[in-house]
Amino acid sequence: MTTAFASPHWQEATQAVADAARILLVTHTKPDGDAIGSLLAMAAILADSGKTVVAAVDGGVPEYLAYVPGSAAVQRTLETGDFDLMISLDASDEARTGECGRYGMAHSARILNIDHHPTNTGFGHIHLIVPDAVSTTQVLYDWFALAGWAISRDAATALLTGLVTDTLGFRTNNVVPHTLMTSAALMAAGAPLHDIMTRTLNSTSFLAIQMWKHALNTVQYRKKVIAADITQDVLKTLGLSQATDTGGLIGFLISANEAQVAVVFKEQGNTSVELSMRAKPGRDVAEVAFALGGGGHKLAAGATVAGTLEEVKAKVMPMLYAVARGKSPFADPEPEDA
Ligand code: 5GP
Ligand code: MN
Repeated sequence: MTTAFASPHWQEATQAVADAARILLVTHTKPDGDAIGSLLAMAAILADSGKTVVAAVDGGVPEYLAYVPGSAAVQRTLETGDFDLMISLDASDEARTGECGRYGMAHSARILNIDHHPTNTGFGHIHLIVPDAVSTTQVLYDWFALAGWAISRDAATALLTGLVTDTLGFRTNNVVPHTLMTSAALMAAGAPLHDIMTRTLNSTSFLAIQMWKHALNTVQYRKKVIAADITQDVLKTLGLSQATDTGGLIGFLISANEAQVAVVFKEQGNTSVELSMRAKPGRDVAEVAFALGGGGHKLAAGATVAGTLEEVKAKVMPMLYAVARGKSPFADPEPEDA
């Protein structure tokens, strides 16, 4: 993993914004609350300072995040325009920014990479990468304060959305006094904490609950690893094109006291499998995700791996058994029958 981002380029980032008239904002595909929160907080701040701003993410903003101010203006595709600056938010590598990011890379003079994933590859020209930050919106809040940019109610709502969702409602082990002080300041600026909590953490659909029903039927526990599958058959039965609300499911699995590691395998056709992984403090699933071409944090990471469900499990489970025992997943993978 790179450490090219050891010291964030605060001043260069502020200067890059000052020098740019047309700015493109992108984030990672299948965006979560921190992705949309950081995209729209940045959009609000830049619009307030008179910049021409385009925000885009493949497929647009998920319905449950449509309450974040500015979401209606987010483009689902990006096929025209040239930009002085592209700002990538909450994406740990270029590929994560999808088709919108691919277009942006080719049509932007400079790239500013803002993120909090320790697995960030350090792409782009200017970096604000702070692995200790609980969310990308925390990085933005600290930058806006340094730059002296006033935070409107709309920007505050977007920023608090990222803080709330990436900390699962202030429950993750990286929450520090600064997290709560930032959140208090955002509430004072008008961000509706309870509404954000309800919409992001306490809401689901009956379809997602039906998916949980099938997934929980597949749960296996072995060697401190708890695992579940979401198969194409189940998605077909439910009429879904892809799994929904798996963040809630993996969060539930890792709550098992016996488990050190949790994994959900989401079958994507017959050709690849998307992994969602969680660990208890002291373990690290980010290095497994990174080795598989994905990324994330020590305690929450993911990747998409080529192969059938059986092939991917055979590759990944021995690594996770080793991680669950506090061993290196590479030096000492544990076979299934050990
Ligand atoms: P989740 O399991 O909630 O989808 O993702 C957990 C964490 O892993 C998040 O920080 C997310 O950004 C990261 N992550 C999930 N899937 C991928 C992936 O395919 N590539 C990368 N780089 N990161 C991922
Ligand atoms: Mn994030």
